[in-house]
Amino acid sequence: DRLVGAVADSDDQAVEAALRPRDLDEFVGQERVREQLGLVLQAARKRGGTADHVLLSGAPGLGKTTLSMIIAAEMGVPIRITSGPAIQHAGDLASILSSLTEGEVLFLDEIHRMSRPAEEMLYMAMEDFRVDVIVGKGPGATAIPLELPPFTLVGATTRAGLLPPPLRDRFGFTGHMEFYAPAELERVIHRSAGLLDVVVDAAGAAEIAGRSRGTPRIANRLLRRVRDYAQVRADGTITRQTAAAALEVYEVDARGLDRLDRAVLHALLTLFGGGPVGLSTLAVAVGEERETVEEVAEPFLVREGLLARTPRGRVATGAAWAHLGLAPPHPTGG
Ligand code: ATP
Repeated sequence: DRLVGAVADSDDQAVEAALRPRDLDEFVGQERVREQLGLVLQAARKRGGTADHVLLSGAPGLGKTTLSMIIAAEMGVPIRITSGPAIQHAGDLASILSSLTEGEVLFLDEIHRMSRPAEEMLYMAMEDFRVDVIVGKGPGATAIPLELPPFTLVGATTRAGLLPPPLRDRFGFTGHMEFYAPAELERVIHRSAGLLDVVVDAAGAAEIAGRSRGTPRIANRLLRRVRDYAQVRADGTITRQTAAAALEVYEVDARGLDRLDRAVLHALLTLFGGGPVGLSTLAVAVGEERETVEEVAEPFLVREGLLARTPRGRVATGAAWAHLGLAPPHPTGG
């Protein structure tokens, strides 16, 4: 597990429940989605009906699960949580759908990874609140229609574009979650510190926020590691110095790059003069699998404008040289 990985690890799962904002007012940032969703929910409440189906897209750790729980809380209904990969057969979905209570929120994480037959069953369930349960096999099989109570489906996906259009079109509202600005992450950190009963000053929160890769889950995780350090090696208060010293121990640099990210950049700059160099060569140079470099390290380096993927190979930008404190051999673009 990486300290700066955006996907939840087992350690996160234990504390995330305690750190989750409970309502839209507590939910930091995402102003646009918050306002739009607030209107959808308020209108549904006013009509005394069930909220439209909601699709949330965005990178891991930005708060999709949290928002789905807030939707249920704001509507005063229970929530059922499952995920696309957990639904292998249409029958799995039928049994979940048929056990929903009126108005319940069904949260389907990684909805793009659902099986095809389940997806088709979902179309009808979303539109008509009805499913056809197939009984028997072969030519003797019959479809028994089953009425469902109205419910709100909240689907989550890393990219809305991964969804087949017929599924995407059945959502009444799509909210796109953005990476968080540093000031927003500072608010997340102050809020979490209060809940964890640890004192963090403004500069300490800013130091952690700057290394959190725009992601609240990472901010909360770094906060916990910095808290450990502050309690063991300092007086328990998180200042800029304790935060920086703690994250140096964990090899998370000022910009949120970890050991692997820096190794990739370092190899690209020192062994290949900043590129272009092929992905496979770069991977061998850092002693990692191609996929690890491509899927784990590169996305953030590209997002940060430190590395570019070009048809001729990977190229470092001017910012990469500056970040590692090295002088480019010749003027580079970017
Ligand atoms: P994944 O897709 O990987 O499941 P997610 O997008 O569902 O991730 P969450 O599990 O909702 O992310 O959030 C991760 C953590 O970040 C939680 O502990 C949550 O408390 C915190 N968090 C997320 N968004 C916010 C926010 N807007 N304000 C405060 N805390 C937040």
